[in-house]
Amino acid sequence: MAPKQNSKTKETNKESALEQAISKAVGRAGGVKTAAKGTAKKAAGKPEQRKPAAEKKEGKTLKITDKTATGTAGKRTKTPAEKRENKPAEKRRGKPATVKETVLAAAEAAGKAAERGGKKGKGKAKSGPAGAKLRIIPLGGLGEIGKNLTVYEYEKDIIVVDCGMGFPDDEMYGVDVVIPDISYLEENAARIRGIFLTHGHEDHIGAIPYVLRKINPPIYATRLTAGLIKIKLEEHRLLKQAQIHTVEAGMTIQAGAFSVEFIHINHSIADAVAFAITSPVGTVIHTGDFKIDVTPVTGAMADLARLGQLGNEGVLALLPDSTNVEKPGHSESESKVGARFDELFKDCDKRIIVTTFASNVDRIQQIINYAAKYGRKVGITGRSMENIMRVSTELGYMKVPEDVLVSMDRIKSVPRNKTVIITTGSQGEEMSALYRMAFSEHKQVDIDAGDRVIISASAIPGNELTITKVIDELFAKGAEVIYNRIANLHVSGHACREDLKMMIALTKPKFFIPLHGETRMLHQHAHLAKEMGVDPANIVVSGIGHVIELTADSIRENGEVPAGRILVDGSGIGEVGSVVLHDRKHLADEGMIVVIMTMSVEDGTLVSAPEIITRGFVYLKESEDLMEEMRRVVHESIVSCENQRITDWSSIKSKVKSNLSGYLYKNTRRSPMILPVIIEV
Ligand SMILES: [Zn+2]
Ligand SMILES: [Zn+2]
Repeated sequence: MAPKQNSKTKETNKESALEQAISKAVGRAGGVKTAAKGTAKKAAGKPEQRKPAAEKKEGKTLKITDKTATGTAGKRTKTPAEKRENKPAEKRRGKPATVKETVLAAAEAAGKAAERGGKKGKGKAKSGPAGAKLRIIPLGGLGEIGKNLTVYEYEKDIIVVDCGMGFPDDEMYGVDVVIPDISYLEENAARIRGIFLTHGHEDHIGAIPYVLRKINPPIYATRLTAGLIKIKLEEHRLLKQAQIHTVEAGMTIQAGAFSVEFIHINHSIADAVAFAITSPVGTVIHTGDFKIDVTPVTGAMADLARLGQLGNEGVLALLPDSTNVEKPGHSESESKVGARFDELFKDCDKRIIVTTFASNVDRIQQIINYAAKYGRKVGITGRSMENIMRVSTELGYMKVPEDVLVSMDRIKSVPRNKTVIITTGSQGEEMSALYRMAFSEHKQVDIDAGDRVIISASAIPGNELTITKVIDELFAKGAEVIYNRIANLHVSGHACREDLKMMIALTKPKFFIPLHGETRMLHQHAHLAKEMGVDPANIVVSGIGHVIELTADSIRENGEVPAGRILVDGSGIGEVGSVVLHDRKHLADEGMIVVIMTMSVEDGTLVSAPEIITRGFVYLKESEDLMEEMRRVVHESIVSCENQRITDWSSIKSKVKSNLSGYLYKNTRRSPMILPVIIEV
C-alpha cells in the first residue's frame, strides 16, 4: 500500500529537493533576475541525496530509494500522447534476440551440469550435519498474486526459485513495474548458486532484468522460458553478462548442497516445470503455477507419475500454487477452447480479431490452426504477441502452416472475411493494439460492423474496468464482440480444488506451505491440506520475508529478513521511492502551489510582491480573490518573520508553507503541495 501520510506532516524535508528543482526551473525559464549565489545557485548544483530509510507499513517494509525526487519534480504531467512516446514497451523495440545459438550453447552447459547433478543429486535424502536446517524464505508471492520469488537456503548455499514482478495499483502514479525487495539476496550474493525458473510468465520472470543489475548468478530455465528471458535481457541490454542455462524437464541440476529436478507440468504457457529440490534435509516440491491437462494442445500431460514416485520416496514439504483454490472441480483442458474457436470461425463472413494472453502459445496455435482450416490469413499485432510468436516458432513450440501469416502492412490486401488478426490487449491495456483499434488509433485496423472481435481471456482481478471500457468502445463502433463473460472462451492455467487435492495425494508431503495466492487463498489451501490429512501442526501459512525453518521432522517460522516491494518507473528513471510516490499522489489529488519570493540578500526583506503559481489546484482566472488572499498570507508570514528576527531562508520558507497550508485547509479543505522558493537579489 502506498503510505498514506498526512500531507501536512513530513513535507518540510521531503520537498527540499523539489524546491531546489523548482527554483532552478523558475530561475532559468522565468527570466527572473537571480543572483549567482544562494538558493538558486545551490539548486543548480547536485541535489542533496537523501538517505534511504525504511518504513514499516502494514507489516511490509517499503524500501525507499529516493534517487529521483529532483528528476521528476520540475516536469509537468505528461499528456497521454507523450506517455505513449515514452512508454519503454514501444521505445525499446530492439533487434531480435539471437535466441537459437545461445540456447544451444546453454543447453550444452546445462547438460554437463545435469550430468554432474544426476550422479550426485538423486537418491534418498540423508539427514544433514547435526542442526543444519533448510531455510525457506518467500520474498514475494504470498498475500498477493505477483512477484513470485522464493529463497531456499541450506548452510552456505542459496538457490532462488522464480524472480517475478508485480503490477502497480491505481495509487501508484507513474509506476510501471513492482519488484520484490531483494536486499537479502544482495547481502548474500556470493552464496547464491542459481536462479531456477518455473515458467515464462511475468510474475515469475519479470524482475530478472532488475535483479541482474544487482546480482548475477546462473539462471536455469526450460527452453521457452529461457527464450523469453533473453528477449527481456536484450531489451535491457543485459544479455551479454547473463548466464542462462537451458534445461529440459527430467533433468537435474546440482547447485551447491541442492539438487533441483525439473518436472514437466501443465500451465497456460508451454514448457512450465515444477521443481523437486533436494537438500540433505529432504526433498521439497515447489510446484510453480500448474494445472493438470490430460489433453494438452502440445506436449504431454503433467508428469504425475514422477510426482507420485517422489511421494513414495518421501516428500518433506510441498509448496503449491494456490491461485484457484477457491474454484471447485478440475480446471478444464486447453483443447476445449479450440472447439469454441471452430464454431466461431466456421460460418463467419466477417473479419475476425482475436485477443488473448500473449504468453499462451497453445491458445495462439489453436487460433492459427482454425484460421488455416477456414482459409484465412493471420496478422499478428502488438509487441509482446510478436515477440512470443518469434521465440516460440524459432524454438519449435509453435508450428505455423506455410503462407498463413501475413504482415500487418499487407493485411488490407487480404479480403476481410479471409482475415484473422491476433492482437494483444486482452486486459484492456491502454497501449495495447486492441485498445488502439477500439479507439481508432491503430495504423492498420479500423473497427466497424464488419468485425467479429473475440476476447479469449478472463480478467485478471483489477482489470475488469479497463476491459469493459474497450468492449464498450468496440460495440459502439458496430463490431460484434464475443467475450468470456458470455461465452466460454478461456480456461484457467491454474489447478482447481480437485487438482490441488490430487497434488497433495500424489506427493504425500509431511509439511505444507501454500504459495502463490492472496491471503485468503493461502488459508483456504491450508484448510484443504488439513482435509487431505496433513497434520495441522505441519502447515505454515507464511508471509513475505518470513524465514521458515525445516528439519527432517520439524517446521517453524523463525525470524524475518528484509522484504517488501520496489516500485520501478519504466521510463528509465529507475526505482521510485515512497517519497516520490507520495509526491505523485499528492500532486494528483490536491495539485500544487509554488510561491516565489524575491528577497534582498542584505536585509532579508521582500523586494517585490510574492508570486504564486498553481497547477491542478484552482483555475486562476476564477479565483482572483483566493490568490489575493494567498499573497496576503505569504506577505504577513514574511513580515512576522522579520519582526521575530528570523532570517534564515529555510525557516522563512517553512513558516510561509505552514501558514499558507493552514489558511488553505481552513478555507478550501484542500492540502495542495506547497513549494516556497526564495530568489535572492
Ligand atoms: Zn503462470
Ligand atoms: Zn504465477
